[in-house]
Amino acid sequence: MVWPIRSRISSLIRSKVPMVGSLVHWDTSWRTVLPTNSSSVVSSRTRPCPKFMNWARIDGCHAAASFKEKQPENKGIDVGNMAEAGGNHDLFGLMKQRFLTFKNHTYMKELEHFQALSKAQYPKFMVIACADSRVCPSNILGFQPGEAFMIRNIANLVPLMKNGPSECNAALEFAVTTLEVENILVIGHSSCAGIENLMKIQDVESRSFIHKWVTNGNVAKLRTKAATAHLSFSQQCRFCEKESINQSLLNMLSYPWIEDKVRRGLLSLHGGYYNFSSCTFEKWTLDFNGCTVNEENNSYVIKEEEFWS
Ligand SMILES: [Zn+2]
Repeated sequence: MVWPIRSRISSLIRSKVPMVGSLVHWDTSWRTVLPTNSSSVVSSRTRPCPKFMNWARIDGCHAAASFKEKQPENKGIDVGNMAEAGGNHDLFGLMKQRFLTFKNHTYMKELEHFQALSKAQYPKFMVIACADSRVCPSNILGFQPGEAFMIRNIANLVPLMKNGPSECNAALEFAVTTLEVENILVIGHSSCAGIENLMKIQDVESRSFIHKWVTNGNVAKLRTKAATAHLSFSQQCRFCEKESINQSLLNMLSYPWIEDKVRRGLLSLHGGYYNFSSCTFEKWTLDFNGCTVNEENNSYVIKEEEFWS
């Protein structure tokens, strides 16, 4: 389906449901790809569990038996609220209480599993999310230990390879080349201060580390400004929050060890958007065959859109 840009934007304004503004093929038209099978998010490919893991499991059984004998009885769950805690003593007291609750009610109950994880990890996901304290992916999507290799940065941005080394691409390299994750998920969110900062920046010579970092999203900002000039600043920010996710997905294709695996179907790139005002989650997948990434043209197509509410 190909929609003219104007109808796409007017639809955005009319709808109370935030639209993924970046469901586009940017060079010539805005193209949405209708959802396909909603259960097809995770690849059905499985990696064989190495013999090492079997040894780890056996080891874990013995360790579990001896470890359990040494542990005190569970003391009950009362995790409290850090926002209501007083000074540092209270904060760390609460933190200790939460750790012991985790230990007694999660770790000890799944001791074999955690002992195996102490030997190796085989996550199927690499997750890149915003550092914002309100949007922890493990909380909202339920990732358990060992399930997602994760990095969080301001505005969940992935720089282009030519921009040089960063924590983000170091983590990506390890996840893709060593852990061999099958999915990379970039998660953005509503009311993102990092994106707002990006949209507000005027001084390109700023010495602020924050300003320098968020300019990794400049292409998304320019696209947003071009497509939403008639919208309010707040609406532009919501648009850019999603546009920057797709730009990060495209930027990943500038890394040859990512592009190669995506092209061979060994790795999938996904976008996610968490609206924590309405508590909804949008998920989509980059359609590699519809993407173009070079100096003259930068376009993408997405597929498998889902809206979780
Ligand atoms: Zn954010």
